[in-house]
Amino acid sequence: MPARSAKAQAAKRPSAKNTGKAGDFAARVVAWQRVHGRHGLPWQGTRDPYRIWLSEIMLQQTQVAAVIPYYARFLRRFADLAALAAAHEDEVLALWSGLGYYSRARNLHRAARQIAERHAGVFPNQFDAVLELPGIGRSTAAAICVFAYGAQHAILDGNVKRVFARCFGVAGYPGDAAVADVLWEHADRLVPAKNVEAYTQGLMDLGAGICTRTKPRCDLCPLSMQCVARRDDAIAQYPAPRPRKVLPQRHTRMLVMLHAGQVLLEKRPDSGIWGGLWSLPELAADESSDAVCLTRFGVEAGRISALPMVAHGFTHFLLDIEPLQIRVKKIDPRLTAPGVVWLPLTELQGAALPAPVRRILAALET
Ligand code: SF4
Repeated sequence: MPARSAKAQAAKRPSAKNTGKAGDFAARVVAWQRVHGRHGLPWQGTRDPYRIWLSEIMLQQTQVAAVIPYYARFLRRFADLAALAAAHEDEVLALWSGLGYYSRARNLHRAARQIAERHAGVFPNQFDAVLELPGIGRSTAAAICVFAYGAQHAILDGNVKRVFARCFGVAGYPGDAAVADVLWEHADRLVPAKNVEAYTQGLMDLGAGICTRTKPRCDLCPLSMQCVARRDDAIAQYPAPRPRKVLPQRHTRMLVMLHAGQVLLEKRPDSGIWGGLWSLPELAADESSDAVCLTRFGVEAGRISALPMVAHGFTHFLLDIEPLQIRVKKIDPRLTAPGVVWLPLTELQGAALPAPVRRILAALET
């Protein structure tokens, strides 16, 4: 049978029109949220767009329980937009260290500076202006405008895509543009004229706690009477998973240069993986550790030993890291390279390090 294009398949999918009364849907979500939804999260009960924005960015790809301590720590240090805009990027990244997806932190910092320059330090209150800020997509801009200003906008994060795909029987992988379009049509038509905050929070709460990826609690779901996936006993089919792809495997060697209780770290370029973080120097395939130590860092290598391999998964590839521990004999201070620091091992906690580098250094027997 000839393969059908995604567009042709999407054409067969139900349109978002006439697939349930929007008012009923929203009323059910709002009523459920008032009684069973989450209340009292640290970023609720405020209209401060800065705090709401921070929470929305931290909550991308990260669960509430993991975000709460980071959110509190971040706000203790950067209480408002002005404090964040004035900060050094290193400090922002250090406070983010461990949450992952560091581009979120870099964009947050860039956006704070952009707001200082273009909006006189006041968080914009128009959807289009919010959407223009670095690191803010359509759903995040909508959530900020809903919670900060009570504006009527539709959200569609990963969890909400799952709820809509099941409730309205939207086939196909939501990462497909054509499928996403259908889901957005549903999201847009369902936004209620009032109680938009409770409705939006309700969708988030349903996606996080009831219509979960595995074992959804349909018995507790306010949408169960109209849910297509439940009616057809086909919940496992929605949403369709990402088409399988074998991730390429990469390998790198990293130098763990130790001297007088310190380790040498190198700042990574702003773009690319771990952009702007402090990391261990990497060796190219044809480079020898002795030569790199001397020519790049002015360091005379002593004893070299292999540390246990560390594996790390990125969205697009898997990385095996082979760390080489080097006891440094001598440092030539004339060859201290820019973007390089000798950091005391006792200060690793507060440094902006990629997670696998932190794991390597935490396992050192010093
Ligand atoms: S009835 Fe079940 S599958 Fe349908 S939206 Fe509710 S929790 Fe999800």
